[in-house]
Amino acid sequence: MFEKILIANRGEIALRILRACRELGIKTVAVHSEADTEAKYVRLADESVCIGPASSTLSYLNVPAIISAAEVTDAEAIHPGYGFLSENADFGERVEQSGFVFIGPRPETIRLMGDKVSAKGAMKAAGVPCVPGSEGALPDDPKEIVKIARAIGYPVIIKAAGGGGGRGMRVVHTEAALHNAVTTTRAEAQAAFGNPVVYMEKFLENPRHVEIQVLADQHGNAVYLGERDCSMQRRHQKVIEEAPAPGIDRKLIAQVGERCAEACRKIGYRGAGTFEFLFENGEFYFIEMNTRVQVEHPVTELITGIDIVQAQIRIAAGEKLWFRQRDIEFRGHAVECRINAEDPFKFTPSPGRITNWHTPGGPGVRVDSHVYNGYMVPPHYDSMIGKLITYGDTRDQAIRRMRIALSEMMVEGIKTNIPLHQTLMLDPRFIEGGTSIHYLEHKLADRSEVKE
Ligand code: ADP
Repeated sequence: MFEKILIANRGEIALRILRACRELGIKTVAVHSEADTEAKYVRLADESVCIGPASSTLSYLNVPAIISAAEVTDAEAIHPGYGFLSENADFGERVEQSGFVFIGPRPETIRLMGDKVSAKGAMKAAGVPCVPGSEGALPDDPKEIVKIARAIGYPVIIKAAGGGGGRGMRVVHTEAALHNAVTTTRAEAQAAFGNPVVYMEKFLENPRHVEIQVLADQHGNAVYLGERDCSMQRRHQKVIEEAPAPGIDRKLIAQVGERCAEACRKIGYRGAGTFEFLFENGEFYFIEMNTRVQVEHPVTELITGIDIVQAQIRIAAGEKLWFRQRDIEFRGHAVECRINAEDPFKFTPSPGRITNWHTPGGPGVRVDSHVYNGYMVPPHYDSMIGKLITYGDTRDQAIRRMRIALSEMMVEGIKTNIPLHQTLMLDPRFIEGGTSIHYLEHKLADRSEVKE
């Protein structure tokens, strides 16, 4: 096992990784920007290194500074968390070339999955169900493109191979609009991602977002840890996540999960990963793979009892998976609310000093947050300040516990989206379960009409 790990991230996930390291008896190095010097987790770490000013380009994305920090502190491995450099294959390569272990998949796997055309090709070859679409990249010939769209059937979506963060996509409803859409998306993709390659998929009108968590070791073993439903989204950002996904046949989950595990074995996947699917009319359609730990990993931890961050570390250290698929038991239900420093209904960011911070407790309540009384939420980063997660024997119990937890939670000095979560936990459609990825946007739109 490693003696010392450098945590190349900030906020709640830095603290989460720190806790996993402490439990495994591993020393930690926290790297931080000038804006995060006072953060409590920085003090909890055995060592800390300031890697630059507040701007993340100069600190959390500053590869040479992070590598030097690992060198001067004699860290053996680097955990990238999520966001920042976590899915940057060049970073993984630099880490390994500098003699450290990258806690994540091999750089070539990150590269394969980072290009959506190659990722989809690899998944199709491995038997993972994909959205019907073009065989790889779209050709140049406009007549060929028209043929492909006709074969798929409108509406279709044009997507950039190098796209990410919900950008580089365009929905096309009619043949008349096709040529223009392809040309525009190509130009935008070239400008935004330096890669003009685009592909085409059937546009699913009312899907849910359901994803499968996997773990794979370096010895050819892979398992799936069930699914998460993350359909409650605003602008492609997840707001609430839960596990299991309500109302989906367990046999279907097992089938798709097994395909994902098999795909991991085929491509020599290493570590934790997530296969994201759209789910519509009882069918799963792969859209992309995330080659890192995800914000919503705790809901899976609560229903499986498996610590995903510790698993990442043990796998990176070369351990063989210490359980088999049939040893994994799925029990109860977990719900996660992302707590953001923002106006609950206008969504404008609300950084500033937290004058009063009180977190809920009691049975089945977990709070993952780096925040404390007097903490200054910096304006430079993502607005998520923590996650509130509840667990129950049933979905109903998990939701009831969430309502109580939200009512106990106190955050003063800044605005948070807690009132939005309170509304959603009482929403009849959410309570029923199985809403589509458009539900929240529609609900918010209705609400603003009512106000005007
Ligand atoms: P990104 O990497 O930018 O997040 P994804 O491929 O994961 O891109 O797609 C982001 C979102 O775009 C999905 O969650 C879904 O809302 C929408 N989307 C993508 N592909 C389709 C599709 N074929 N049909 C309907 N919606 C889609």
